[in-house]
Amino acid sequence: MSRLVVVSNRVAQPRETRAGGLAAAMRAALKEHGGLWFGWSGKRVAPTERALHRERVGNIDYALLDLTREEYEAYYLGFANRTLWPLLHFQPTMMQYSRAQYAGYRQVNKLFAARLAPLLREDDRIWIHDYHLIPLASELRALGVGSRIGFFLHIPLPPRELLINLPCHADLIATLSACDLVGVQNRDDAHALADYFVDVLGAQRSGDIVVSGERRTRVAPFPISIDTAEVARQSQAAAASATSRNLRASLSGRALAVGVDRLDYSKGLPRRFEAFGRFLAEHPDWRSRVSFLQIAPPSREEVPEYRELRSKLERSAGATNGRYAEPDWVPIRYVNRSFARRTLAGFYRIADLALVTPLRDGMNLVAKEFVAAQPPDDPGALVLSRFAGAAGELPQALLVNPYDPEGMVEGIERGLTMPLEERRERWTAMFEHISKHDIDAWRRGFLEALGN
Ligand code: ADP
Repeated sequence: MSRLVVVSNRVAQPRETRAGGLAAAMRAALKEHGGLWFGWSGKRVAPTERALHRERVGNIDYALLDLTREEYEAYYLGFANRTLWPLLHFQPTMMQYSRAQYAGYRQVNKLFAARLAPLLREDDRIWIHDYHLIPLASELRALGVGSRIGFFLHIPLPPRELLINLPCHADLIATLSACDLVGVQNRDDAHALADYFVDVLGAQRSGDIVVSGERRTRVAPFPISIDTAEVARQSQAAAASATSRNLRASLSGRALAVGVDRLDYSKGLPRRFEAFGRFLAEHPDWRSRVSFLQIAPPSREEVPEYRELRSKLERSAGATNGRYAEPDWVPIRYVNRSFARRTLAGFYRIADLALVTPLRDGMNLVAKEFVAAQPPDDPGALVLSRFAGAAGELPQALLVNPYDPEGMVEGIERGLTMPLEERRERWTAMFEHISKHDIDAWRRGFLEALGN
């Protein structure tokens, strides 16, 4: 079996113990096949100080490249996170574009290719991750790399009508034809990409293969997942922990709704806060009977839109709490920090309801984690945005449209009053699905499609 090379912007460093599910899956794949993990070191240095940090742990090689402050600004803060992120999440009005930033993004991809190519062997299989590295495969091909290359896009891919708002759309998307396999989160995204290739770039299509000149690229959905058994185990173990007991005691028998998201405008937090406030306004009988715990660690704070979101949410939570709080009850508990994964699993288990209502999300792993963490005899209800990739796999959730305030209020009310039998039925179907389609099945599926 050939060696696996994983390339991603951020690499879970060898000694990082808090790595997420994806990092664990990549490590497992690399261990199985022996491999190399290449990416950004997370360091910003002066141009003369740039280094490629090499390390071998077991049968995995790590190669981490420093970026300069200028490269980081154009490639990461600029084009990746202020251009591609909002556009690919269906928010073109939030997109900021400049040719200089696109040039910086292309330059970093070229640099990655130049530093990676000498480390490659002929029969390697290369797996590139996410929107930071869309042109990397084409840069590798330009250097004569003939290996099989797969690319997986973790975030959504909007239809052509939206994609063409990007001034450099054709230049950028055409580079994906350098891949043998392009994986996306769901069928709609796969159709959108294949249609774009045919309609805009003039490619031919045969089933799920798009043919652009000499190159054949398979475009297919691979919905990402979680380590379901591990989350279930963690949530059971967390039940007896002091943190879980303290949270439970603080509720004094009241119901708990929970939300866990990076502080990101794609997550629909302002509308979620408004919906919860409206729910209390329209259902006075629920005041003092339910608390909403929103955990939202700040992210990308160097990007202005993220700072604005943070102050907006502080105002919104403050207003609702000011209006409804009692001396012994606060409606919204808004917490801006990270927790260990097992602690979160314990919180999910205590919750009666999860509010997972992004405006758009590639998948949304929190929805799956919440399901995995429920006690089978008394599972909580999941209110899930129909615009999260997870909605396609979890139709038994209470699906809501985050742009529909009345619908959101109905979802909260239905979730809080759902009879035990219905909760069990819905949960069993969802749990069975994510048990079968877990993160291991996901990475095996992708690698099988890429070929051994
Ligand atoms: P995104 O990748 O856009 O952040 P996902 O829901 O797909 O959204 O994945 C987020 C991951 O980050 C989940 O695994 C979730 O458990 C984790 N996470 C989110 N918030 C926190 C937090 N406060 N502390 C620790 N982990 C968190």
